[in-house]
Amino acid sequence: MLPQGLWRSLGLVQRSYTRSFLTISRCSVRRLNSAARVPDFAFAFDIDGVLLRSSKPIPGAAESLSLLKEEGIPFILLTNGGGKHETERVAEISEKLGVPLNEDVIIQSHSPFAELVRGTETQSPLENKRVLVVGGDGNSCREVAERYGFRHVITPGDIFMANPSIWPFSKVFKEYYKTFTRPISHAGDSSDPTKGLKIDAILVFNDPRDWGLDAHIIIDLLLSSQGVLGTLSEKNGQVDLPNRGYQQDGQPPLYFSNPDLWWAAAYSLPRLGQGGFREALEGTWAAVTGGSSKGVELQKTVIGKPSQGTYEFAENQLLRNRTRAFGLDSPQPLRNVYMVGDNPESDIRGANSYRSAHDSKWHSILVRTGVYLGGEPAWTPKTIASDVRKAVEWGLQHSKWEIK
Ligand SMILES: [Mg+2]
Repeated sequence: MLPQGLWRSLGLVQRSYTRSFLTISRCSVRRLNSAARVPDFAFAFDIDGVLLRSSKPIPGAAESLSLLKEEGIPFILLTNGGGKHETERVAEISEKLGVPLNEDVIIQSHSPFAELVRGTETQSPLENKRVLVVGGDGNSCREVAERYGFRHVITPGDIFMANPSIWPFSKVFKEYYKTFTRPISHAGDSSDPTKGLKIDAILVFNDPRDWGLDAHIIIDLLLSSQGVLGTLSEKNGQVDLPNRGYQQDGQPPLYFSNPDLWWAAAYSLPRLGQGGFREALEGTWAAVTGGSSKGVELQKTVIGKPSQGTYEFAENQLLRNRTRAFGLDSPQPLRNVYMVGDNPESDIRGANSYRSAHDSKWHSILVRTGVYLGGEPAWTPKTIASDVRKAVEWGLQHSKWEIK
């Protein structure tokens, strides 16, 4: 177990990964070792708007990854997307691009949530606690959470179906919720199974589909006493308490997996992402509590690009993969890492701001195939490339790598 940046900053410890990412044989490893062509650089790719757009491959993406594989150059797919387990996500990407990829090349926004199962320095283990998993299609994020090891996962839909009066406007989604929700097994009031239901953590895994219900249940829990639905904390609004008494009464911690305000979809303009939902929630929270004018903040943890921790998480994964792939005795720092992304706010900002503990230099390359529509980007990249193929070419030239 190695301390990792993402959770080190949050007081967590990351699991170590067990598989190598390069699908090369032992024979290939020996050949690569003997050839001493261990690259001192690597690539990190965003997925949406770089490799795929609305599930369709972006021209040059497959060829670029295939070339890096052939050359033994490490790369990782670092996405703020999610909603599926890593094995499914990587299988899907492999199929779409026609390039076989291992699970270890992908880090999704919620991948680090797996560490919360066993707990961290700041978060007691959640394995046997009741966690509210928010966002994603149907049951998909609950299933991911269960595969991570959370044993008691509840969704806002479960709560709504047990007591639709909690947010009557969601009755229009009843048929949808019927397809995947589960009865609440809480042994409380049989006429209202949500009564007395205690939630120990709120994990926003993916973009909420029913913003109203999800936001309302989150706010209910943040205003509750001890995270028990249907209660209101007496500490709320007490001026002599920190944060004016809000979130000071054992309410569940709130985690967001993805700060992106925008994402590139099939529509002609970018669409609001999980960051949009968080902003809406923050605005409502401020209206309910008085907000910053009263000295109240929404206490939460946000992971994902562009956070320092997520980039360190990615770098450590690249080092582990490279060490295994080349049979190195110990991890050796990368000289350069090329972050290829379409989103100045997450990909470029994160790479520009990141400070490597191993003194690796991260170079941001902005491509024009996704969110970025031209003009002066909010965060200035090292270079702008028309697409991923040009970005890879730029990185190879920068590291003076000669193609075999
Ligand atoms: Mg993107």
